[in-house]
Amino acid sequence: MKTDLKAVIIGSGVAGLASAIRLSVQGVTVTVFEKNNYPGGKLSHFEKDGFHFDAGPSLFTQPQNIEELFLLAGENMADYFQYEQVPLACKYFYEDGTIINAFTDAKKLGTELAAKLGEDAGSVEEYLLQSKKLYKNVGSIFLNYSLHKIKPLFKAPLAKAIRTVKWKHLFSSMNDVNKSFFTKPQTVQLFNRYATYNGSNPYKAPGMLCLIPHLEHNEGTFYPKGGMISITNALYKLALKKGVKFQFNKPVQRIIYNEGKIKGIIANGENIDATIAVSNMDVYGTYKYLLNDGLTAKKLLKQERSSSALVFYWGIGKEFAQLELHNIFFSENYKAEFDHLFRSKTLYSDPTVYINITSKYGRALNAPAGKENWFVMVNAPANTGQDWDTIKKQCRKNIIGKLNRLLKTDIEPLIETEETLDPIMIEDKTSSFMGSLYGTSSNSKMAAFMRHPNFSSKIKGLYFAGGSVHPGGGIPLCLLSAKIMSEIVAEDFSE
Ligand SMILES: Cc1cc2nc3c(=O)[nH]c(=O)nc-3n(C[C@H](O)[C@H](O)[C@H](O)COP(=O)(O)OP(=O)(O)OC[C@H]3O[C@@H](n4cnc5c(N)ncnc54)[C@H](O)[C@@H]3O)c2cc1C
Repeated sequence: MKTDLKAVIIGSGVAGLASAIRLSVQGVTVTVFEKNNYPGGKLSHFEKDGFHFDAGPSLFTQPQNIEELFLLAGENMADYFQYEQVPLACKYFYEDGTIINAFTDAKKLGTELAAKLGEDAGSVEEYLLQSKKLYKNVGSIFLNYSLHKIKPLFKAPLAKAIRTVKWKHLFSSMNDVNKSFFTKPQTVQLFNRYATYNGSNPYKAPGMLCLIPHLEHNEGTFYPKGGMISITNALYKLALKKGVKFQFNKPVQRIIYNEGKIKGIIANGENIDATIAVSNMDVYGTYKYLLNDGLTAKKLLKQERSSSALVFYWGIGKEFAQLELHNIFFSENYKAEFDHLFRSKTLYSDPTVYINITSKYGRALNAPAGKENWFVMVNAPANTGQDWDTIKKQCRKNIIGKLNRLLKTDIEPLIETEETLDPIMIEDKTSSFMGSLYGTSSNSKMAAFMRHPNFSSKIKGLYFAGGSVHPGGGIPLCLLSAKIMSEIVAEDFSE
C-alpha cells in the first residue's frame, strides 16, 4: 500500500466504523464525518423511564465478522466485546394456538416441528443441510467478493458454486422452494420469514435466499453482553484505539473530485482534503446530494426498495414467562401481508409482530425489576408519502388486539412508557432513502447482481460500504461490505 493516504469516511454506521478500522490498520490516516452526535447509525440505543432499548437491529449472527476486526487490529476482543450463544433462535406463535420453539440446532428443530406440527423431521434436517451447502458454496462467494472485479472473483471457488446451484434457486421463489420441501403451511411460513432478513418478499425473492436459515439454525444466534449497542461501542472504541479521528455533528454536503480523482469533501461548509472517500451514506443520497448526480440516483431507483419498519418501544409493567428474547406472532395470511407491503404499500390489518425483549438476558441493564423492555416491530413499506400517523395508530391497535388474543392478557394497561419509529424517522436519523432498512430488496432474480458495487468505476478513490451496497443487508453483510471495500482499496493503491 502507498503511504500518506488520507481517507474520509462519510457516516459512522456499523460499516463506516468497520471501514475506518480496516483502512487505519492498512496504514491510511482516517477521519470519520458523522452528521449525528453519536456513532452507530441504525445501531443505536436510548433510555426512557428506566427502560433501555436497542433502537434498531436486535438479531446478532456471525460474530466472526466482528472477531476478524479485532484480530486484524491486534487487539484482544474480550477487552472490548463479549457475547454468548442463544439456544432458541425464536419462539413462534400462530393464530391457531400452535407455538414453536425454533432451536438453533437443526436436529432439535426437526424434532420440535415433527412433534408440534407433524412435519417430517428428516425433511427439516435435509432442508437445513441444503441451506448450509448453498450458503457455503454459493452465498460465501456473493458475500466475500466484489461481483464487479473480475480478477479477485476468479480466485473464488466458482466450480463448487456452479455444481451446487439448482434451477429452483434461481428461477423459483423462496415460497415455492419451501412448499416443495414441507407439507405443513406453518413450516413454510416459518422458513418464508427469512426473506425479511433483507427486507424482501418470499413470494417474489429467489429460492437462493433459502441459504439464510443456515445462519440461525446451523451457525446459531448470539446475544452481545450489554445489548446490541455494545457492538457500536466496541467498534467505536477500537477505531479510536487505531488512531481514527471522529467529527460528530458534521454532515458531509459534497464529495469533491477533479479529473476523475477524489480531492476531498465539504463537511459543515469546510473543505477537507482526501485521497480516498468512503461513503457509508445510502448510495442513492450519495449520488443525488453529495455528487449532484441526479441521473445516476434516478437509475438506482429502478430497483425496488427494501421494506422498512414500524417500531413501538414499550416499557411493560410485568414479566411474561412465556416469552423469549426473540418472539414472532405470525399473520394468519402471510401472502396478503406481503401483497400489502410491496403492492399496496401499506400495512395489513393482521401484521406479523416481532417482539424482542433484551431484559430476558440482561435484566439489570435493560428494565426495572419485574418489568420488561419490549421492542415491538412490524414490517412496513418504504415511505412513499403514506399518512404514517394514521397508519401507526391503526397498527398499534391491530398489534394490541393480536397480542391480547395470543397472550390472553390485556396488554394496553401494561404499557408504562412508549416511543415509536417509522420510515420517515428512519430516513431523518440515518439518511436511508425512503426509510428502507436494507437499501434495495431482493425481489427479483438479478437483485444480488444489481446492488451498487463497493467502488466507483468513474471516480478513482471513491468507495462505498453499508447496507445499501454490495453485498447489502443487515449487520454481518455491512461488515463484509467494509471488508470487500478495503481489499479493493489495497489493490487500487498498491505500490
Ligand atoms: C428497526 C430496525 C431493525 C433492524 N433489525 C436488524 C437485525 O435484527 N439484524 C441485523 O443484522 N440488521 C438489522 N437492521 C439493519 C441494520 O441496522 C443495518 O443493516 C445496519 O445497521 C446499517 O449499517 P450501515 O453501516 O449501512 O449504516 P447506517 O446505520 O444506515 O448509518 C449510516 C450513518 O451515516 C450517517 N450519514 C448519512 N449521511 C451522512 C452525511 N451526508 N454526512 C455525515 N454522515 C452521514 C448517518 O447519520 C448514519 O450514522 C435493522 C434496522 C432497523 C432500522
